[in-house]
Amino acid sequence: MSLKIGLNLTRNYSINFSLPKRSKKLIKFIIIHYTGMKREGRAIKKLSDSKSNVSSHYFIKSNGELLNLVPDLYKAWHAGESSWRKLKSLNEYSIGIEISNPGHNHKYKKFSSKQIYSLIKLLRYLIKKYKIKKQNVLGHSDISPNRKKDPGEKFPWKKLASKNLCKWHNLRESRLKRYRNLKLAEKEEKVFFNNLYSLGYSKIFGKKYKNKKKNLISAFQRRFRQSLINGKIDQESLLISKNLLKS
Ligand SMILES: [Zn+2]
Repeated sequence: MSLKIGLNLTRNYSINFSLPKRSKKLIKFIIIHYTGMKREGRAIKKLSDSKSNVSSHYFIKSNGELLNLVPDLYKAWHAGESSWRKLKSLNEYSIGIEISNPGHNHKYKKFSSKQIYSLIKLLRYLIKKYKIKKQNVLGHSDISPNRKKDPGEKFPWKKLASKNLCKWHNLRESRLKRYRNLKLAEKEEKVFFNNLYSLGYSKIFGKKYKNKKKNLISAFQRRFRQSLINGKIDQESLLISKNLLKS
């Protein structure tokens, strides 16, 4: 079926969602994922299989086709253990979009331009309908940095930001590169982490996980410094974090 806004939607409902219906006002976030599976057909099956306990509201196939697996007003099961600001379990407050991509474990590849085209249309529609703030359009790794890498460093956040669909910095790459790998003073490291917490990254989450700081730095880099993900803070990462708080 086709929605008025030019969204070509195929309904292919999954039974993995929670009752009762939630209020429209609860929807404040959009969480973007990749499937992380070699075969697209299997990924769609899994998201609808009662034994898998996972689902998402939308699924974007490699050819750009858009499936609606769970109606927006029901809670789908895509985020798992997650947190952002003081919120935990983001499923409650979000719409989940899965994009077909084999992911880091199976030759992670570029998202197709047809996928991104469909995603842009879908984001415009959802942001308008639920009045979602652009800083609340997030990746799974932002809210689950210890467990997740998706949608990863090949995801075109900068392009989406140029269409005002998510947050990005306004620093020039040529300037930034001069700060790459430059060390930080201990004080500055603190500033960096505090900046991340101010942006929304959670410090309370994941006490049981190892390498928490490194995971958090990597999640930030996958999102905002995609050409080098090394889990180490440098002046470039610090500068980006400062700039993001200003914009
Ligand atoms: Zn995910």
